[in-house]
Amino acid sequence: MASDLTPHVRRRRTFAIISHPDAGKTTLTEKLLLFSGAIQIAGSVKARKASRHATSDWMEIEKQRGISVASSVMQMEYRDCTINLLDTPGHQDFSEDTYRVLTAVDAALMVIDAANGVEPQTRRLLQVCRARNTPILTFVNKMDREVQEPLALMDEIERELGMTVVPFTWPVGMGKFFGGVLDLRKDQMRVFTPGEDRIAGTEEIVDGITNPALNERFGAAYEQAAGEIELVRDAAPAFDEAEFLAGRQTPMFFGSAVNNFGVQEVLDALVNLAPSPSTRTAIQRTVEPDEAKFSGVVFKIQANMDPAHRDRIAFVRVASGKFERGMRMKVVRSGKELRPNTVVTFMSQKRELLDEAYAGDIIGIPNHGVLQLGDTLTEGEALQFTGLPFFAPELFRSVEVADPLKTKQLRAGLTQLGEEGAIQVFRPILGTVLLLGAVGQLQFEVVAHRLEHEYGVKARVTPARYNVARWVTCDPADGGDQELKRFIDGNSHRIAYDAVNAPTLLLEYAAELRAIEGNWPKIRFHALREHA
Ligand code: GDP
Repeated sequence: MASDLTPHVRRRRTFAIISHPDAGKTTLTEKLLLFSGAIQIAGSVKARKASRHATSDWMEIEKQRGISVASSVMQMEYRDCTINLLDTPGHQDFSEDTYRVLTAVDAALMVIDAANGVEPQTRRLLQVCRARNTPILTFVNKMDREVQEPLALMDEIERELGMTVVPFTWPVGMGKFFGGVLDLRKDQMRVFTPGEDRIAGTEEIVDGITNPALNERFGAAYEQAAGEIELVRDAAPAFDEAEFLAGRQTPMFFGSAVNNFGVQEVLDALVNLAPSPSTRTAIQRTVEPDEAKFSGVVFKIQANMDPAHRDRIAFVRVASGKFERGMRMKVVRSGKELRPNTVVTFMSQKRELLDEAYAGDIIGIPNHGVLQLGDTLTEGEALQFTGLPFFAPELFRSVEVADPLKTKQLRAGLTQLGEEGAIQVFRPILGTVLLLGAVGQLQFEVVAHRLEHEYGVKARVTPARYNVARWVTCDPADGGDQELKRFIDGNSHRIAYDAVNAPTLLLEYAAELRAIEGNWPKIRFHALREHA
């Protein structure tokens, strides 16, 4: 069903870059902005990162947050498309937010360091993409270094990530002898020149990947590449759009982000291959992106610069319709009406006031707690989007107040921080000590700091003995609530309730989990809980 919104939807591409720290995500992000014309000089994204990493003190991070809010979503125009790029923080910033950002995109760009291959953080993030069948483009970076052989890399990606890799380009040489890439689809070679000065469309191009001139010029490196391409052609399947869109095939590109090489191919691939926003699922019905009425979902909440005012920005992915400044919106969970006049968009790292937005766009709504993670916004219809995931924490801490009179404030603070998604809070059945669960170490520091400064609670955060958490349920056919109660009663010393009262099994070792799973075949153990 087409409407006058359809052209706006079709020209949108919303994606995230995923990578292990140091693979070149920041560099590539910046080059994408540069090549699309969103920024004029390189260096601005980097400067932000440098200032963030120069300090381990997260007070400083706090100061930077105003900037990082603005630059965690970037919009750019390229060819006839509007591209929304969402940042997935790495390093010590790694948190549950990182995962949830992936629920707001329609595609992901995976950056791999050609020397290191598939690294742990890439693997983790990719699991989330796979679970959601998110289409993935692969950029193999740093070909100007001594790196792994491309065939070995391709093999590793296929094996480790369980996807079929379809090379769109193939490198000729590497390191000092990196000659460029053979474009297998356009049948041409793009010749590499080092340096950051080159801009879009100024590469030297040689037509025909079997052109004898290439052999003369690049010798052994070219011969090796040509031989590898033969092998790949025989072994790898042809690119299949449906397989790509289902997240089972990934097109692979080689380049060097720092040298502006291969960047334009990535932008073109995003426009040509990545899908525009499509249907989203709500409990009540499915929602088409070009429906007339506005709807959207909060996938991330970030506390703002000024803790005294506790205002927070809710990041909303527009799912359908058109957002216009000053329009009324309903928060479906609470029934509250919202008429934000200061909704912001994120153009090339500055916050700007937003006039209109369409499906796929990300809008930022400042609020004082009216909006929670997972909230659906509509023009009035009772819709609740599904699928905002909570991940079983991998790190645990006990939290107590130094002053017992402040127990209430602690609970209130933790409830709010839990709603914001800053941390997960568990109440064990036995005992009175609350447990905090996170996927990134920094989350604990942030929470302790915010408890003190925003809620006036000095909390003692100490290591807890748990390392594994699983939400537990039981299907009605297997005994339902009764069987679940039997399980909970039999394991009360290791069961806790989370923020929405979902029972959770907490364990010290993964091996225990396997034993318990064996003993309780009717109970289901979940590493992921979906917010509904
Ligand atoms: P991030 O942690 O993934 O955001 O990585 P950065 O973009 O900060 O890059 C990490 C380091 O790798 C920086 O020193 C970059 O200058 C360097 N780098 C990025 N791309 C390339 C490349 O293509 N070749 C080389 N030799 N270094 C690169």
